[in-house]
Amino acid sequence: EMLEEKVQERTEALEQSNENMQRVNKELVKMEKSRRHMLTNISHELGTPLTLIQGYVKAVLDRVDEENHDRYLRLTYEKTLILDRIIGDLFELSKLETGKIRFDCQAVSPAAYIRSLYDKYELSFKQEGYSFEFIDRSASVAHRGAPVWIDVLRMEQVVTNLLFNARKFTPSSGFIHLIVEQSGSREKGDLGVRVTVQDSGRGIDEEDLPFVFDRFYRGKESSKNSSTGTGLGLAICKEIIAQHGGTIEVESKLGSGSAFTFTLPVMNDMEEELAHDKGSE
Ligand code: ADP
Repeated sequence: EMLEEKVQERTEALEQSNENMQRVNKELVKMEKSRRHMLTNISHELGTPLTLIQGYVKAVLDRVDEENHDRYLRLTYEKTLILDRIIGDLFELSKLETGKIRFDCQAVSPAAYIRSLYDKYELSFKQEGYSFEFIDRSASVAHRGAPVWIDVLRMEQVVTNLLFNARKFTPSSGFIHLIVEQSGSREKGDLGVRVTVQDSGRGIDEEDLPFVFDRFYRGKESSKNSSTGTGLGLAICKEIIAQHGGTIEVESKLGSGSAFTFTLPVMNDMEEELAHDKGSE
């Protein structure tokens, strides 16, 4: 009987480790796929402007199309600006990932902080025709007043990036909502604040969705009409949020809009006290 029990135990353990292996394998396949996507996109994003620059410069050197030379030079200059932005973003991302950027954090009230960012863009977004709203759903809940520990400039970069993306992919007759609410609860020890940028824009293809936070990943549509993006914005957002102990995710439906949501932990009483002591040193 003892033997039977042992065999049973072993079998279960084997099954468990088999399951784990399968999970790891799946994860690896996903990583490999996303790495391949990234390489394709790096070559594409850097290669396209370079090829164009070569063409314009060659035309000038060979003195063909002379009446267009001014335009070619201007286009060349514009393409170098794009390359400069890509390289700048890439450099920033790698500095973030290797921990070379020091965060200058302070305790701030999340709702008031997000509101201040809304105020900054309210006029211009509304002037462009958007129905742009700030929605504070944190007002009635427990964590009102509980601060988050953030680098305000870095966090502004995240919110701005999400807002500008929303604007880029939403016709000006649409809406953009900036929402603040509670996530988790004090009792469960996972109390946080959730910030959402929701738009009524063109949405994201289900196929693209798992990759939008990857470096250089741009939806098929975005890369086709080669607008101004670098495909690095969301990767940078994700890294900044991760370094604040938070997470970021996206929900979207093609044709009806997207919602990018990040969650940050709020400080507990002890952390608040520590931060306060530090501040008054
Ligand atoms: P970029 O905007 O420079 O292309 P991002 O990393 O900011 O790069 O975004 C990656 C891709 O995710 C975009 O190219 C686009 O396809 C998709 N995307 C991001 N935000 C939105 C949005 N609000 N609505 C629709 N698509 C979006």
